[in-house]
Amino acid sequence: MPLFGNLLSRVSKDGKESIRGNYKPKKHPHGSSRYTLRKSLKSSLAGGTKLKDSVKCPDGEDENEWIAVNTIECFNTMNMCYSFIQSFCTDDSCPTMSSLKATYLWTDGKGKPQELSAPKYIDNVVNWISEQIDNPEIFPVDDSPFPKNYKASVIKIISRILRVYAHIYHGHWDKIKQLEVNQHTNTSLKHLQYFAENFQLLGEKDYETMKHVFVTL
Ligand SMILES: [Zn+2]
Repeated sequence: MPLFGNLLSRVSKDGKESIRGNYKPKKHPHGSSRYTLRKSLKSSLAGGTKLKDSVKCPDGEDENEWIAVNTIECFNTMNMCYSFIQSFCTDDSCPTMSSLKATYLWTDGKGKPQELSAPKYIDNVVNWISEQIDNPEIFPVDDSPFPKNYKASVIKIISRILRVYAHIYHGHWDKIKQLEVNQHTNTSLKHLQYFAENFQLLGEKDYETMKHVFVTL
């Protein structure tokens, strides 16, 4: 069964206006190895390959590149899932960034952690991840070597993506169902879960936070 194909085309037509104003899906340069790997990932996701198998690094490919492609894909799909309910996630409806298990405080690593509304927190997450992905010292381009802290950086990105899903499931699940995008949202999160599990990118705390959702996927 195609997992993403039909839904994605429907969503991009109908959901265009609700896609985050300052966010454009990350693309890979034409002809780069990430461009080719993404094509291979998309075709296995859409072509009936079991989701659990589709996250495995294809034979002979660079594992770090594969992790980069999947991380960027998970970031793009998280943005799409949030865009479904973005207009319902306001400072009034969601004054804190909460999930079933926690209320998250924002920190940029410099100042004191701050309590922000969910939309402001998520805006910071999107901008922060976008900067990480665009930073060639973390995600090198032109065949430069990957940095030593590469995996740690990806773990942090995955953790922040998961918090956005935690908020979507906790605060906006009824709306997601009403909009009939629940299957798409579940599949997107499941891709993230399998990918993160396969490459040990899921922190114990993050797993605990999302366990109640993972078991229902
Ligand atoms: Zn919200």
